[in-house]
Amino acid sequence: MISERSSVPPADAAAKYEAVIGIECHVELKTASKMFCGCPNAFGGEPNTQVCPVCLALPGALPVPNAAAIEHMIRAGLAFDCAIPAFSKFDRKNYFYPDMPKDYQISQYDMPLTQGGVVRYWLADGTLRECRLTRIHLEEDTGKSTHAGSGDGRIAGSTYSLVDFNRAGVPLMECVSDPDIRSADEAVAFLDALKRTFVQLGISDVKMEEGSLRCDANVSLRLRGAAEYGTKTEIKNMNSFRSVHRAIQSEIERQTGLLERGERIIQETRGWDEAGGVTHSMRSKEKAHDYRYFPDPDLVPMEIDAATVERVRAALPELPIARYERYVDAYKLSVAQATQLVDNASLAEYFDRAVDSAKSPAGVLNFVLGDLSRLANESGIEVAHSKVTPEALAELVALTDAKTINSKVAKDVLVRLWNDGGSAKAIVQADGLAQVSDPAAVGAFVDAALAANPKSVADFAAGKENALKFLIGQVMKASRGTANPALVETVLRDRMR
Ligand SMILES: [Zn+2]
Repeated sequence: MISERSSVPPADAAAKYEAVIGIECHVELKTASKMFCGCPNAFGGEPNTQVCPVCLALPGALPVPNAAAIEHMIRAGLAFDCAIPAFSKFDRKNYFYPDMPKDYQISQYDMPLTQGGVVRYWLADGTLRECRLTRIHLEEDTGKSTHAGSGDGRIAGSTYSLVDFNRAGVPLMECVSDPDIRSADEAVAFLDALKRTFVQLGISDVKMEEGSLRCDANVSLRLRGAAEYGTKTEIKNMNSFRSVHRAIQSEIERQTGLLERGERIIQETRGWDEAGGVTHSMRSKEKAHDYRYFPDPDLVPMEIDAATVERVRAALPELPIARYERYVDAYKLSVAQATQLVDNASLAEYFDRAVDSAKSPAGVLNFVLGDLSRLANESGIEVAHSKVTPEALAELVALTDAKTINSKVAKDVLVRLWNDGGSAKAIVQADGLAQVSDPAAVGAFVDAALAANPKSVADFAAGKENALKFLIGQVMKASRGTANPALVETVLRDRMR
């Protein structure tokens, strides 16, 4: 293993080159059973308890495709404007691997379920980007090896590995992007787009920590403005979006250094070393054709008719990119606010329902991302499952916007709605919480406060502005928070002139 520590190249060298990045991403599909047998598709079972003759590749066992997984694929394809060919087929990808009992993997080669497509995504500053997809195809996952000792693998003088076949045969979707990505930031934003879309479609949990999303990145550099691609390396072993970012950045810097020194980039697979913060050479890159793909003779080609595609299309939910653009364009939400809502679909649906009733996106947004989210965090109850209905929130926003109640009272009413449910209007009426903007009524509260606090009156006369704040507080308290605060200040200043 050769490790090359990357040093950050000078800025002019970095500006000279453009990074060209493509992503390959494996996503486990969420289905009840595995891809070609009835074994449960579940994470975390005791080793080798979710297996059968089919996924253990016992002689004579025949695979039967999982219709739900194929439908998930069509959903993913339609979400990203992929073509869904009428005919597709499964192929065998042949290789020896100890955690693959068949010694081949059922995958797709020249006729995948989807072709082409484009992922539209946004960066943290709101810039919209597009990355074309080469294809999304369907295959089966492998089992999992654990190398004993996790370091030298040596127990009592012998080396051994444990194999768990529970994961063998789990439906796996592979998304292959075109090399349209130009930076580590874009790569992570692209992956965020895939993740939030698959979650919204309900086709995967997309949990990197459980291995249901795994990705590799192809990275090469070329002189800015050049049409030809440079030699690429493939980076593996990235186990979080943060490590994807760090690994790509480190590889860009390593390649920049090599090119600046007039050295050659070698086409190879490189592993990401999280602790060291560098990539290291794993092996020179084998050709894709080494796998001797051929159509799986146990599986008939798939025919996807137009009616099926249209049925699936009609049932697609609003996609994250569409929701994001609606929030930014129609409601003028900031990038961060829109992203926060888009990444919490139940909160976004709640927001939409409240806005429908309230017609005041700004007011609803303040409560949803502010006090309501705080109450949800404190209690562990999702906003959408709380006692505050979107309609009650809409009423509260309308009462606040109309200045029937002030913001302090609104916060108190919200807490009462959270605890007891009900209607904001009813609470305000029953408890006489409507804001008092009648000068005579406010004047009465002010006179009482002045009479009770002669020292503050004297302090204010001596130029102490803080005394005014204290008196405003006294008036608000006496009015149980209902007095119009702006009017209170005006009347107080007037009386003490
Ligand atoms: Zn099985």
